[in-house]
Order: sequence, then C-alpha cells, then structure tokens
Amino acid sequence: MSDTRSEAAAGAPMAARSADEEAAAGCSAATQNATSERSVAGQNASMRVAVVQTPSTRADVETAVFDAVSSVCDPEYPDVTIAELGILESVSTADDGSVVRIELVPTMLGCPALDVIRRDVAAAAQSACVGVEARIEVVFVADPVWTPDRIAPSAVDFMAREYSVAVRSALTDATCPICGNAALEHRSDFGPTPCRSVEWCPSCRNPIEVVGRVDIAVSA
Ligand SMILES: [Zn+2]
Repeated sequence: MSDTRSEAAAGAPMAARSADEEAAAGCSAATQNATSERSVAGQNASMRVAVVQTPSTRADVETAVFDAVSSVCDPEYPDVTIAELGILESVSTADDGSVVRIELVPTMLGCPALDVIRRDVAAAAQSACVGVEARIEVVFVADPVWTPDRIAPSAVDFMAREYSVAVRSALTDATCPICGNAALEHRSDFGPTPCRSVEWCPSCRNPIEVVGRVDIAVSA
C-alpha cells in the first residue's frame, strides 16, 4: 500500500482531495476523548458508552475500524447505515500499519452528503483505534460504481416504511411504499437529492421518490 496516496488521488473526485487531507489524522487525537468517555461511564453506569480497547494487530485494527464505520448512518436516512446502503467498500491497513484506509463508494458524485459521511467515518475510525499510531485515510473511490443493488434488502424495506422512499434496482422493481402498487409512473429524473427521481402512484395518487432511475430498472 505504498502507493495509497496516488490511488486516492486517482480514485477520488477532484473536490475530495482536500477533504481527504482534512480527514487524514492520527489516532492520538482521539485518545483524550476515549479516556474521558471511560471516566463518564464510571460515574454513571446506566449510561451506554463504548469502552474502546486498543487493537493489537493489523487484523484487529481492520476489524475494529470496519465495525465502527459500519454503524455510521447516512445523513439522508439517519437510521440507515452506510454499510446497509452499500457505501462502505473496504477497510485495509498498510503493510507497516502506518495507514488505515477506508474506501467508500459514493452514491452520486457531487452529493453534498459526502463530506458529512467522510467526516463521520473519520471520527468513527479514530474512535476505534485509540492508542494505534496510524493515519486514517477516508477515500471515495470511483470503482466499483454504486448502484441501488448495493442496498441491503432490510434497508430497502426500512426506507419504504420510514421514509416513503422506494428503491429500484436490478434486483427489485420499485413499488409504492404507501399502497404497494407496482405500476409507478415516471415524472422526473430530478428529485430532492441527486440520487432520487420522482414518480407518481396512480393508485393512491401520491408522488413517490425513487432511488434508482428508470434506465437501470429490472431487465427482464
Ligand atoms: Zn400508492
């Protein structure tokens, strides 16, 4: 992984590079926070606070960071994690352990939520490797390309139920999250966010936001 930085520059969107630099930080900065969290836990046993143990091997670091960043939620869907949305691609460490690299797959390049995700992922990774001397690198990669197929079925159900957002992918066609009608009518490619289009349900007569566009619909 000696060429990590060049890979980051090639794979990430142009605007992401400076933010990469911001996200890159040593874990030592998180040590004080974790220490204070532990003392808070001691004062109030009923408070749920994670006590972080220092990972001792590269595999431990990767596992700890993966677990931590898996629980980061997407800003657009506050109860859905980036792992469930298929945004989290991988966590790896450099051979000498000096770098922890987290690769993310952006749902849509230029999405304003990406900076928030990058920040939250960096913070989660730092909290997971307290005591580990490594630089954390959060990178949005261009390969693989995100598609709605990457959304976990449980998240598809949750997004329909809690956010009234339907998902269309190569695996499933979009159905109205309100009445279940499968015959939605396309209205616009441009929804409230770059990754959502707008459709119309003729059955319950509601506009429906759909993640995934008609041109990537199920190919039967
Ligand atoms: Zn409907």
